[in-house]
Amino acid sequence: MRLQRMTLGEADARGRRAPVPLDEFVELECDTVIYALGTKANPIINRATPGLNLDARGYIAADERTQATSLPGVFAGGDIVTGGATVILAMSAGRRAATAIGAYLRTTPRRWPVSPEQIAAFAPTSAFADIPVEQGSTHAMS
Ligand SMILES: Cc1cc2nc3c(=O)[nH]c(=O)nc-3n(C[C@H](O)[C@H](O)[C@H](O)COP(=O)(O)OP(=O)(O)OC[C@H]3O[C@@H](n4cnc5c(N)ncnc54)[C@H](O)[C@@H]3O)c2cc1C
Repeated sequence: MRLQRMTLGEADARGRRAPVPLDEFVELECDTVIYALGTKANPIINRATPGLNLDARGYIAADERTQATSLPGVFAGGDIVTGGATVILAMSAGRRAATAIGAYLRTTPRRWPVSPEQIAAFAPTSAFADIPVEQGSTHAMS
């Protein structure tokens, strides 16, 4: 296995420093290589699921309030939507999705995307109604 040394580059607008390749290589003798690197969505999603929109970073694009995706009946939440985040954020997305899925399945005829109003009609007292959503943030929960 041929490895290329990396160094950290300058911080971007979000304050994160991305790795920058150096012109230095190391070779390791291996029988088997199992790689488990990074937290990005598998690029195969795009090819295997036509019509499922991804965001600019390659994660599944989902509505921040309902977790609805571009594919009717498909909801997504957690790291596959936010990028690597926390268990609390993933769990809250699961709760929002469960509420939205319930409303979606109980609406005849089915409507897509499921709307917050549709959800409020079926679950007016659910936690969903109280969840503040900070637009444009991956940390949508307080
Ligand atoms: C090293 C590390 C340490 C962390 N420490 C913390 C911490 O201290 N506190 C914290 O809050 N968060 C922590 N996190 C983040 C936290 O683990 C994630 O934010 C959280 O697990 C995301 O939950 P999820 O349900 O979105 O995804 P996951 O927990 O990754 O669940 C996705 C599931 O889908 C399965 N899956 C994937 N592909 C398929 C497929 N094709 N078919 C069927 N199943 C599939 C996977 O096997 C997995 O079980 C840590 C993460 C890492 C990597």
